[in-house]
Amino acid sequence: MSLETTKQRQLAAPAAARAFTAAHGVLDGAWVDAPYLEVDAAGTIVRAQTGLPSAPDRDRAPIPVHDLGRAVLLPGLINAHSHAFQRSIRGATHRAAAGDPSTFWSWRQAMYSAAQRLGPDGLYAVTRACFSEMLRAGITCVGEFHYLHHRPDGGLYDDPNELSNQIIRAADDVGLRLVLLEVFYQRAGDRRPPLPEQRRFCDPSLDVYLARVDALRARGVDVGVAPHSVRAVARPQLEQLADYAARAGLVMHAHVSEQPLENHECAAEHGGLTPTQVFAASGCLDRPRSFSAVHAIHVDAADLALLAAQHVCACPTTEADLGDGIVPAADHLTRGARIALGSDSNAIIDLFQEARLLEMNERLRSGRRLCLSAAERPLSLTLLDAATVAGASALGRADLGKLAVGAPFDAITLDRDHPTLADVASEHLLDAIMLAGSAAPVDRVYVAGHRRR
Ligand SMILES: [Zn+2]
Repeated sequence: MSLETTKQRQLAAPAAARAFTAAHGVLDGAWVDAPYLEVDAAGTIVRAQTGLPSAPDRDRAPIPVHDLGRAVLLPGLINAHSHAFQRSIRGATHRAAAGDPSTFWSWRQAMYSAAQRLGPDGLYAVTRACFSEMLRAGITCVGEFHYLHHRPDGGLYDDPNELSNQIIRAADDVGLRLVLLEVFYQRAGDRRPPLPEQRRFCDPSLDVYLARVDALRARGVDVGVAPHSVRAVARPQLEQLADYAARAGLVMHAHVSEQPLENHECAAEHGGLTPTQVFAASGCLDRPRSFSAVHAIHVDAADLALLAAQHVCACPTTEADLGDGIVPAADHLTRGARIALGSDSNAIIDLFQEARLLEMNERLRSGRRLCLSAAERPLSLTLLDAATVAGASALGRADLGKLAVGAPFDAITLDRDHPTLADVASEHLLDAIMLAGSAAPVDRVYVAGHRRR
């Protein structure tokens, strides 16, 4: 079924205007009791307040009110960094092989093997399963950092966007919003051609890549430009990608300083520069809040300053799994960077855990508590911001991640009576959700006003 057909199917049956109310929730970034939201037939929030409207108001324009009872109503979560196909090796890389030093790089080899085996149907199946799991975990929009582009030998499919189309189809069929972060990949490293298992990640040229992106944009697909890393993309191409993204008004995402070896190789190739400095020198950081540095773990003071007006996308469960290190979240936030969250390898799909670990990893490192709390904002709301509005901003979708007038009704409810939340006092509820919780209590999930779970 074509993309156009499925989009039409979704839009064919608009819901009627209706209202929602619940015991507690977060409206436009603030924790409130008795949130009340009116949603029009197109799924857009047209009224947001605490408490029901007065009787004369209700009588003037009566609409059905869905009382969600004791539930907690939150904005849908935004997953800013995912590689859906990597879910296929969940649990498969935790036993030592003879001679295997068990590092990020040996994990990568197992991941490459899985990538080699996938054709269009297989990619669709694993992506659909992954996106379904995201929806169940309260994620309503994903930024898919997609680099599995071509045939295993690097040859193009009849439609060069064949595999991108499978990602789009999976998101469409599940009902998840997608920002397709199309990855450009050209080499194994400085003056090293791609390894055989990297060939299918690589476009024959930058022009072929840009033609694919143009074709996706022409169809209305929400895309971002994604040079994989400074290891996989040379500086002249980074400059051209920065120029293209600026002209097209697209966000740019890249892996940045995930592993120390990446920094060492970068310094050797670029006269001592760090990866962040190479992105800056290539023009990738010229536009404020248009760039997302995924990981940004092994960064120095100069890097922190360069990223202050951008996004950092932390992926703590994956970073722990792969032995990457700890994102210096407090340092990034203090300087002004916005921190988004990603499920990355999808070994675990739970943005509540990602948000909690952002704080907890800093506690483990510093020996202190409340590391990310700021005077003007409770810690729990800072963590919810990372899982919602900051992710939306990173994906160039500032309209998402919040329950406010003009935003689509992308919302989730949490079951107040779930064993993990039962008996928690109302004044501690959001702290329990964000600092002691998980996605287990997620109950209902709405995308653009449509109930998806
Ligand atoms: Zn990644």
